[in-house]
Amino acid sequence: VVEMGQPEHSVVTTCAYCGVGCSFKAEMKGNEVVRMVPYKGGDANHGHSCVKGRFAFGYATHQDRIKSPMIRDAITDAWREVSWEDAIAFAADKLKQIQQKYGRNSIGGITSSRCTNEETYLVQKLVRAAFGNNNTDTCARVCHSPTGYGLKATMGESAGTQNFDSVMKADVVLVIGANPTDAHPVFGSMMRRRLREGAELIVADPRHIDLLDTPHLKSGQHLPLRPGTNVALVNALAHVVVTEGLEDMAFVEKRCDMESYHSWRDFIQDPRHSPEAVEAITGVAAEKLRIAARTYANAPNAAIYYGLGVTEHSQGSTMVMGIANLAMATGNIGREGVGVNPLRGQNNVQGSCDMGSFPHELPGYQHVSNDESRQRFESVWGVSIDNEPGLRIPNMFDAAISGEFKALYVQGEDIAQSDPGTQHVESALKSLECLIVQDLFLNETAKFAHVLLPGSSFLEKDGTFTNAERRINRVRKVMPALAGKEDWQVTMDLSNALGYPMHYNHPSEIMDEIAALTPTFTGVNYKRLDELGSIQWPCNDDHPIGTPTMHEVDFPIGKGQFSVTEYVATDERTNSRFPLLLTTGRILSQYNVGAQTRRTQNQMWHDEDRLDLHPHDAEVRGIKENDWVGITSRAGQTVLRARISEDVLPGVVYTTFHHPGSGANVITTDNSDWATNCPEYKVTAVQVERVSQP
Ligand code: SF4
Repeated sequence: VVEMGQPEHSVVTTCAYCGVGCSFKAEMKGNEVVRMVPYKGGDANHGHSCVKGRFAFGYATHQDRIKSPMIRDAITDAWREVSWEDAIAFAADKLKQIQQKYGRNSIGGITSSRCTNEETYLVQKLVRAAFGNNNTDTCARVCHSPTGYGLKATMGESAGTQNFDSVMKADVVLVIGANPTDAHPVFGSMMRRRLREGAELIVADPRHIDLLDTPHLKSGQHLPLRPGTNVALVNALAHVVVTEGLEDMAFVEKRCDMESYHSWRDFIQDPRHSPEAVEAITGVAAEKLRIAARTYANAPNAAIYYGLGVTEHSQGSTMVMGIANLAMATGNIGREGVGVNPLRGQNNVQGSCDMGSFPHELPGYQHVSNDESRQRFESVWGVSIDNEPGLRIPNMFDAAISGEFKALYVQGEDIAQSDPGTQHVESALKSLECLIVQDLFLNETAKFAHVLLPGSSFLEKDGTFTNAERRINRVRKVMPALAGKEDWQVTMDLSNALGYPMHYNHPSEIMDEIAALTPTFTGVNYKRLDELGSIQWPCNDDHPIGTPTMHEVDFPIGKGQFSVTEYVATDERTNSRFPLLLTTGRILSQYNVGAQTRRTQNQMWHDEDRLDLHPHDAEVRGIKENDWVGITSRAGQTVLRARISEDVLPGVVYTTFHHPGSGANVITTDNSDWATNCPEYKVTAVQVERVSQP
């Protein structure tokens, strides 16, 4: 229950939960938020919202907030409150000592998709300019890094092609590995509106999702594939398109690289990709695959939306390329109502990738090995930048355990809870000589920290978030930072203490620097954002007011590139010991590992994670609704309560991971995407059995 009262003033800002990026009016009484009102002028949400954005903001003033910097006492191991000056000086001294002893590459920094663009930009700048290496990464590593890789390789830009409103022009909506009504609720509602108007729906997902229950749905096809077989499925759809002559050859010949097209065509028409051959792999009836392919290819406008069910696999990047192949072959690119659209999980996944927080890319996806790009940054920053990529997050963990990596600065990301292989991550964190954690709460990662720096919530700072449709929205400060500093100021202070000067008076100055160095952002500044409300990048001389639809005339790489997308089965196999496949997802009222939503009234709507299993699998194990069940994988074990559900297929079980006790990351494997190391969260072979209450 939100405390009500009469607001005295209001400030328009952006929700800090999911990648829809809804605008809200924060109605204020003094420094207190009275309520969050969905903003009618919001370009992403048009006055709509979900329960998270509207009600789950109380975490910002929750009693658990860290209000003072702290240093862990080396003798007693207890936290000691210190001043900002002392904490920053202590952290900087430690980092310097470690670099002197172990070398320049022994330290690194991780930022988060929860942070603003400006904060993320500063962290990667801190790492590159003050630390002197490219050991910078972001939590997008564990969600949408395959999107960046796959879309850049095929269409030349690491971003979705459409704005959200475009779905209202789609005749067919193909949803793969996503559950928009729960994970992206405002966009899910918009999609539902279009489906009620008559658009056809195809869902490729191991689970039955709510969109399939849309009232008055003209046609809803469900392709309930086995977890881990996405690439076989998308290849089968493309096989039908090619062998039944459903391609848009006018588009292919005009817009695509024909050499890559012919190689792909030779590959995809092989009978091993036929629906009949693929049925045995995916478990989806061949006829269903044929009908779905025809529905998609014959539609005047067909749009693909996908989520983590595509990316969090050992073939995540291959699947993204497979989706791009399908869209290009059918000419579903470059106008409203079509496209390839990743539904980004967190508020600023797109932005954190755009801002150069990957170890191989500077802001704007400019590779560190590109001399011209690197030199542009070097001349503005006044340092030389390594031309070799640095360490990714999993490489940092490995290097910490082997003793080569010694210190880490983590801003806004609970890696101990959200990254796979919990025991491995904890071993890595224990091995560090200095772990600096900057966060709102004493999270799981902070338990291993040596220095704790209070973070600031979205209500306490200025900046921008970039949503899943490349829309840059303003985040506006509505109350003073609880601990006296905004996140960007902390990074700046740390840099100054390390001897690399940073002097910004306001995040708008950071955005001006980003715009000066990033060709797709040259027209972005706070004044224009205030005037236009929001801007979809690219925004530059070619696109002065931004770009709602990408690739209308050509691709940034000239011609679209087809890719050969061979299906390779994941190493994670079921057997008699581990006969079920576990997959994971989210629900509407909660958010990721729950650090925010568990500290709000939303908690009452979902007070524990459960394991969904099919009635058949429950019956053969003697499991009834609400029974406690042990879930054992090759990696570990956890205990949850059971929910019997026909939403999952026989042989598949499903859970969420909103509570620390879910243990989802204790049991997931260490498999990851071949191109980006994105963990394979979505496929774990498990056994489930009834246990007594833990
Ligand atoms: Fe909008 Fe997502 Fe926030 Fe809900 S969580 S209000 S859909 S941005």
